[in-house]
Amino acid sequence: MSPKIAIVGGGAAGLMAAICAARSGSDVTIYEHNSSVGKKILASGNGRCNIINTTATADDYFGTDPHFATYALEQLPFADFIDFCHSIGLLLDIKDDGRCYPFSNEAKAVLNALSSAVKNAGVKILIDTKVTKIEKTGDLFLIHEDHNKTKFDKVLIATGSQAAPQLGATDDGYRFAASLGHTFTPTYPSLVQLHLNSKIHPKMAGVKTFAEVTLYVNNKEIEKVQGDILFASYGISGLAILDISQKASLALLNQQKVTLSINLLPRFNTQQLRDLLHQLIAAVPNHTVETVLGGLVPAKTVAHLCEAVLINPSKIVSSLTPKEISKLLELITNWKFEVIGTHGFKHAEVSGGGVATADVDNTTMESKLVNGLYFAGEVLDIVGRRGGYNFNFAWASGMIAGRQMAKK
Ligand SMILES: Cc1cc2nc3c(=O)[nH]c(=O)nc-3n(C[C@H](O)[C@H](O)[C@H](O)COP(=O)(O)OP(=O)(O)OC[C@H]3O[C@@H](n4cnc5c(N)ncnc54)[C@H](O)[C@@H]3O)c2cc1C
Repeated sequence: MSPKIAIVGGGAAGLMAAICAARSGSDVTIYEHNSSVGKKILASGNGRCNIINTTATADDYFGTDPHFATYALEQLPFADFIDFCHSIGLLLDIKDDGRCYPFSNEAKAVLNALSSAVKNAGVKILIDTKVTKIEKTGDLFLIHEDHNKTKFDKVLIATGSQAAPQLGATDDGYRFAASLGHTFTPTYPSLVQLHLNSKIHPKMAGVKTFAEVTLYVNNKEIEKVQGDILFASYGISGLAILDISQKASLALLNQQKVTLSINLLPRFNTQQLRDLLHQLIAAVPNHTVETVLGGLVPAKTVAHLCEAVLINPSKIVSSLTPKEISKLLELITNWKFEVIGTHGFKHAEVSGGGVATADVDNTTMESKLVNGLYFAGEVLDIVGRRGGYNFNFAWASGMIAGRQMAKK
């Protein structure tokens, strides 16, 4: 007889696992406490769903053992993912940098295709049904919800992480895992905005610019990225900040000192910038510092740059001393801010940490401690970079878990 399978969590990993298990003939039930499945899929990629990345390797992931992801990623090469998408009626738009989106550019298309495939495969979906406890009695599992307990042969924990609780995210998966003997590494928000310790950043709220951001942990350079930054009342946001946020957030969790250096003009090296400023001073000697700098960096930053180096913005540029010019250049290219926190799980796209991968077999996604118990997706101590990598691991690990659970 085919195994009776419970999947706890109707997100990316759970839906993929359900399709794979049910297509292999299993009797599959999804438990989802939201009023519909796949809420994060709908919200993803600003409503476009960056569904996968064609270039994913374990190097795109973080966790105690990022190489845990390798087997799953290899089992779902991009060509196979395209075949899977075709099998559920979904076409992809493949970008040059490896990001992929549904052809319609609408996340809804992804969810509609998955939902239809799940139904066609005969999966039972219990929405508005929160699993409160998972128990193992003999060879069977008991899934507790409300006042009901239902017996299953195999269970997949695909409850995701607690990032974005407004979309239904919970930390239930870690509790379920712990109650069955698993450990989990502390979780932290990732792909998230950062809080700064300065009086200046709130005054620059709304300033968006292209910059180079260098992350320092305990004064050691850890990462350098270029991209948009956006100052906000609470701190700083933008794609460059999201990209360094995993390492910043993990360092904060470990109570390390976290600092950002912002280069507002990364297109020039220091000498080019110095030459440029001198050319401008020679061309418009009677213009104010405010006017000249306002042609180089966002106007709203100029007053604060000047304030930080104690230069009057109304001063005419020809009266700047060499020392003042050096101070300005240093600040424009190396503006330091202390990071004192993240904007929290509510604003994070994903969470680092999770169920310890050492106790899970990465070739089957089955627990090494409890027969018949499986894990997939973000509930595990694996988190990806921005760019479709998080869904990538959810699909790949969900596919393996689904196929393996279907085996008798
Ligand atoms: C705003 C936003 C944008 C994102 N954009 C992208 C993107 O473009 N590309 C990308 O790769 N990644 C993106 N991500 C990350 C991606 O959504 C997740 O990594 C992915 O959804 C993880 O899949 P999962 O199945 O493990 O968990 P989830 O998709 O979170 O699914 C877990 C499910 O379990 C349910 N659940 C939890 N507890 C219980 C319980 N006790 N009982 C029943 N059900 C329960 C939840 O309601 C949820 O439906 C984004 C995330 C957010 C928040």
